[in-house]
Amino acid sequence: MPSALPTDLPHPRIPVDEARALVVGAAPRLAPEPVELADLAGRVLAEAVTAPHDLPHYANSAMDGFALRAAEAGPWPVAQRILAGDDPAPLAPGTCAAIATGGVLPAGADAVVPVEQAEEADGLVRALAAPVAGAHVRPVGADVRAGDVVLAAGTALGPLAAAAIAGLGLTGAACAARPRVAVLTTGDELVAPGLPLRRGQIHESNSVLVRATLERAGCEMVHVGLVPDDDAATRDAFAAALDRADLVVSTGGVSVGPRDHVKPALAALGVEELFWRIATQPGQPTWCGVAPGGALVAGLPGNPLSCLVGLHLLLVPAVRAMTGADPGPATVRAALGTPVRRLPARLRCLPMRLVDGRLEDLGAGVSHQLSRAAAATALALVPTGEGELPAGAEVDAVPLG
Ligand code: AMP
Ligand code: MG
Repeated sequence: MPSALPTDLPHPRIPVDEARALVVGAAPRLAPEPVELADLAGRVLAEAVTAPHDLPHYANSAMDGFALRAAEAGPWPVAQRILAGDDPAPLAPGTCAAIATGGVLPAGADAVVPVEQAEEADGLVRALAAPVAGAHVRPVGADVRAGDVVLAAGTALGPLAAAAIAGLGLTGAACAARPRVAVLTTGDELVAPGLPLRRGQIHESNSVLVRATLERAGCEMVHVGLVPDDDAATRDAFAAALDRADLVVSTGGVSVGPRDHVKPALAALGVEELFWRIATQPGQPTWCGVAPGGALVAGLPGNPLSCLVGLHLLLVPAVRAMTGADPGPATVRAALGTPVRRLPARLRCLPMRLVDGRLEDLGAGVSHQLSRAAAATALALVPTGEGELPAGAEVDAVPLG
């Protein structure tokens, strides 16, 4: 059982690190599937990629220059000209070959004299300094040897890694399936953007935040829907979502008000609670559990900045764990630009703008003030304690990407 912090709340709240360990541990691990080169960036390797052959698989020149035998005294007549793509004949003793970068080193040659260090006149090449065996030659296997691990299982692939896989001659790689996510936003007050509001209504924004954050983390959205504050409707929406998703994320309705139907609905569906309430500000009423079929369920609070905390500190790590990647969160150290008050028992999570290692306060300390947080590029994590942290104090921050 997670240890409870001292709290005046009826339900214990747990440190966010403990909460993260629980969701990461409970996240279902997804099966591998073949993925083609063009789709590799953004995926996570399920199996190590090994080199099928030495790279380079032939010795070649690192420079435009002249391939020759270093032990021979020059000058050397140019016996052949080797371009990239040619498969040259052996080099006759006492001669050299003009060679382009990447050109195959002809049999017999053991060094390249770069054009900048040579003079060519009347078909004869003179080296400005005595050539050295092995100089400017890329030997067989200098990049990787056949069988070497080039990328480990669990690597999150970017464009460069995808290109490296192509460079090995492979047409794709086995990657973890993309986590399938369903998003349910709850609230009778919510209206789709673009539609007019009457008093009491607000435009729905959490689905945009949850969707974009989790898609960037490599997930596939299988359902995004708005659920009224109604017991049966909430239960039906979760039941349908659980049928097709590895992670179901709801927003709102997870507290103890008369319109908060998320927890009773999940209990009715047999979803087992991992925890409810985390020791953060905002984000405290976050609920997480596991469905009978193994899907992870997260009931995030309705306030957008509370959602942001749950997303970055719990759910992005959970979906990364589903794919076998390091769950993170990847944090950077950064200096506070202004003094920040600490809280004795809760981690303050403040959206700020990270500029040159410095966190600029946006005045976005209140959980519903989404507009103020709009320009944030990082979530500053202000550790618990008494009093203020001064400007210049270093804290962890999660880049928001
Ligand atoms: P709740 O957690 O349902 O009590 O909601 C807390 C606050 O967040 C309320 O002011 C809601 O109107 C607001 N809220 C809930 N869901 C959303 C949403 N999808 N988009 C924007 N604001 C929301
Ligand atoms: Mg609500």
